Order: sequence, then structure tokens, then C-alpha cells
Amino acid sequence: MDKKKNIRVLVLDDDKFMLEFVSHLLRELGVNEVLVAEDGAAGLFALSAQIEVVDLLICDIEMPGMDGIEFLRHIADQKYSGKVVLFSGVDADLLKAIERLAIVRGLNVIGTLTKPVTMGSLTAILEKLSLPIQKTADSSQIRQMFDVEEIRQALMADQITLFFQPKISASSRRVTSVECLARWHHARYGYISPDNFISIIEQNGLINDFTRNVLKKSVQQLDIWLQNGLDLKISVNVSMANLDRFNLPEIYQEAVQDSNVPIERVTLEITEGKLGKDFAQSLDILTRIRLKGFGLSIDDFGTGYASMETLKYMPFTELKIDRIFAHNATQDLATRVILESSIKLGKAFGLNVVVEGIETQADCELVAELGCDEIQGYFIAKPMLADEFARWLCDYEKNRE
Ligand code: C2E
Ligand code: MG
Ligand code: MG
Repeated sequence: MDKKKNIRVLVLDDDKFMLEFVSHLLRELGVNEVLVAEDGAAGLFALSAQIEVVDLLICDIEMPGMDGIEFLRHIADQKYSGKVVLFSGVDADLLKAIERLAIVRGLNVIGTLTKPVTMGSLTAILEKLSLPIQKTADSSQIRQMFDVEEIRQALMADQITLFFQPKISASSRRVTSVECLARWHHARYGYISPDNFISIIEQNGLINDFTRNVLKKSVQQLDIWLQNGLDLKISVNVSMANLDRFNLPEIYQEAVQDSNVPIERVTLEITEGKLGKDFAQSLDILTRIRLKGFGLSIDDFGTGYASMETLKYMPFTELKIDRIFAHNATQDLATRVILESSIKLGKAFGLNVVVEGIETQADCELVAELGCDEIQGYFIAKPMLADEFARWLCDYEKNRE
């Protein structure tokens, strides 16, 4: 292993000896900046005081006062974007449950470290860190940097670009459809993921114009693909905040009718976690959207709270199982059980079942074997700009033959 590691690590543990010991090992392994905190409050302070991101947090679970679970909840709320290693002497099942919880909260957990810690186990963790780290701007910094005015200007200046990520059929492996994902093409930061600006758009009454714009652009792109002889469909994400007006089905219908695209080729994806605020109104709007001919997908299935109820009432045509149930399903029994039951549930409702977030061949084979209809994820392809997608598709089709 190379000696100098230009990274910043924060170790949080209530045991002073452990702090000193782990810090010493990290320095021995070449880490040039090790911060320590003896309790949750000091840990939060250390993280907030850093202008540059802490690359790795090694977090003890059992601590008096604020325990590790509470601490992870706080840093998830603050959108901590560095990597996390859980550090504990608790039993393996409990540690696994805590790891899952942290992942569900959006933290980037790269492993667990059981006590007593050794040079070997720390080396293994640091090796995981040298995997390519996406060097885009830190999302927590971006979140604070953008205000609504800047976003409003960006919308007016048409700085929203679409990236396209293919879905393939699990049986034929043909590309069937493409999800259209919004990016803000920022002059300084490059392409910014929607997680950093959609909520600001929603909170400031801009989501309806935004979604109509994204839908129009997506449909225009599909129109071009269809004219070029590509047999594709598209999916466009719709926020629950969009469902605030009864004439939404007409607005979306109009956006499609400006083109030659048959409405049946357009599916709208709704994230189920937010369904149910005004259940009757949502049901009314979504049912009429279906009536117009759009497909309707329940996105990120399994991460919301009303899964069964929404399935019972809402006229969905597709179930999209969230990536947390796909990732590592070959390794983790509980994940696999949930994945398998969700696929069965979707099939029993007659829905097109998609599994998203497939990153490895093993996961891809498993979900196909479990009977899902379509697969999406980095293993197939990452989201791409339109011309990049066209080239990718050409290569993909050639290799499939
Ligand atoms: P989503 O609809 O669940 O989209 C899938 C997200 O997962 C995309 O992130 C995609 O890049 C990412 N992804 C795809 N395959 C993999 C994989 O194998 N591994 C991992 N780790 N990630 C994968 P993205 O583009 O950053 O979008 C995030 C979310 O933002 C979307 O989640 C969607 O809810 C929302 N979003 C995107 N575009 C729009 C939009 O036009 N309108 C609205 N309202 N929301 C949007
Ligand atoms: Mg989606
Ligand atoms: Mg999703």
C-alpha cells in the first residue's frame, strides 16, 4: 500500500484508549489527517467545523449519551456525503441492522469494523476507500449554496438537461425503455443531480413548470428516436408535489400531443414514499392520467410507508423496486427475501416489475431468475446524454447479436 494517504478521517468513540489506538494505526497506514471525537456532540461539531469534507467517518455504535444510531441520523439529516464505517463490538445481526438503517438514510456505508481492531482490518477498509471517488461538488455544500433565485434563473435560462438511462428486458436483454433524468447544467459545478435541487423547486412552487418542461423535452427526444426507427418507450419522474391540481392529466396530455409520440409510450414514475397526503385527490389525478393512456409506475418501491395501500388503490401499471433491495441481494438473505417477495407481489398485481440499481452481474442474474420483467442500473449503463446514449445503444445491440 502506498504510504501517504491524502484523506481526512474522523474517529468517533467514547473510549479514549480506542481513539488513540485507532488514530495511531491510521497514521501508521499513512493517513495524514486524523480527527477524533469522544462523543456524538463533539463528532457533530468536528464535522460541521470542516470546510472540506471528512472523507471517512469511523463511528462507534455503543456510546453513552448520543449513541451511534442517533449520531448517524443527525449526519444523514445534514447530508454528510463522506464514507462511513461502523465500528462496534455489538453482535453481527444487530450491526447488520444498523448498517441497513444507515444505508436507508442515504449514508455511504462501506463496511463494518469489529472490535478489537487490527492493522489488517483497517488496511482492508482503507483499500475500499481508494475505489474511484466521484469528485463532483459535495452535495451538502451545494445544497446550502443554491437559493431559489439561482434555480429560478437556471430554469429561465433553460439549464436543465436530460440524461437517459436504459432499462432492458430481463428475458430478451433488449433495451425496452429509457428513464429521463433531469440534471442542472451549472456553469461552475457541471451536471448537478436532481437530489440537490428538486426539493427547492418543490418548495417554491416551481415544480409544475419544471415537470412539464422535462416531460416536453423527454417526449421530443423520444420523437427523434422513433423517427430514427428505434423502438423505445420513456419514463419521466413526477413529484407528488405535482399532484396539486385536477387538470394535471390535461397538462401532461397536451405536452405529449404536441409531438408524434403515442401517449402509451410514456410512463410517469411517482415516488411512493410521498403518496397519501390528500389520498382522494392523488387517486383522482393519477386515475385520470392512466385514463389518458400514460403508464404509471410506483418508483422506489419498498422505501415508502404505504406500499400495500397504494398498490390496492392506485392504478399503477409498473412497480419499480428500489435499489436498496437489489444491491447485494446475492450476499444478504434478508435483502433477497424482500426482493423476491416484492417481485412476486408486483407480478400478482399484474404489474410490469422493474428492479433498479443493478450494479453487478450476480445481482442482474438473480433478479432475472426471480422473475422480474425489466432491469435498470449501472451494470447495464449509467445515465447518459442523448448522443452518448445513441452510441451506447448501437454498441450494445451489436454485442447482443
Ligand atoms: P429515481 O427516479 O429512482 O432514479 C434513479 C436514480 O438512481 C438516478 O439518480 C440514477 O442515476 C440512479 N441510479 C441508476 N442506476 C443506479 C445504480 O446501479 N446504482 C446507483 N447507486 N444508482 C443508480 P439521479 O439521476 O441522481 O436521480 C435521483 C432522483 O431524482 C430520481 O430517482 C428521481 O426521484 C429524481 N428525479 C430525477 N429527475 C427528475 C425529474 O425530472 N423530476 C422529478 N420530480 N424528480 C426527478
Ligand atoms: Mg425514477
Ligand atoms: Mg427509483
